[in-house]
Amino acid sequence: MNPMLKRWIRYFLPIQCVACGEAQSEVLCSVCQAVVLETSEVAFSLDGIGRVAALFQYSGPVKALIHHIKFGPSREGASLLATMSNQKGSVLPLGDYDWVIPIPGSASRERVRGFCLSELIFRPMVVTAHGTMSPILTRLCETRPLFDLGVVERKIEVAGIFSVSPQFVSHGETVLLVDDIVTSGATAQSAAVTLRQAGASRVDLLTVAAA
Ligand SMILES: [Zn+2]
Repeated sequence: MNPMLKRWIRYFLPIQCVACGEAQSEVLCSVCQAVVLETSEVAFSLDGIGRVAALFQYSGPVKALIHHIKFGPSREGASLLATMSNQKGSVLPLGDYDWVIPIPGSASRERVRGFCLSELIFRPMVVTAHGTMSPILTRLCETRPLFDLGVVERKIEVAGIFSVSPQFVSHGETVLLVDDIVTSGATAQSAAVTLRQAGASRVDLLTVAAA
């Protein structure tokens, strides 16, 4: 591209796409957004959880955008991902669950960010499905970052870290947990144990991305 033209584009479109670096008006350019929307939903299984699905694979533009949202931190990026997630939709029927419950992230990290990522991203999808988001899980303690722990160590680290609000009075009701990224699934499994002990008959999981 002509360098002069490039300078003009950067003047009028001062944001760079976090995935490809192109100058444009949103944190992710239209080309990268199209790449994200074309990817297929990922379905897999986790012990103790019914159906499990992730809207996107944690790679390419999605990975760049989530990294930008978490470490920016970027509320604007989170809103864009929420819009794209809503546009894409899921095989899981969000409006059919008795409860849609976001898995809360680390309290200290959420304080720095100023928002709960899973709640912010899934809220438009839940509204579209005429469901209700119920942020009724609490983290009782901080955990070490899980990425450098083995499978067994992860399970130990996250066991019993959640409590559920007394507002959750369940007599065999169904729950959809929503979260940002699933890796081993240990955190979601721990939340599912807490909810089943509180009376849930079925716990499914929907995440933005699967790593
Ligand atoms: Zn791009």
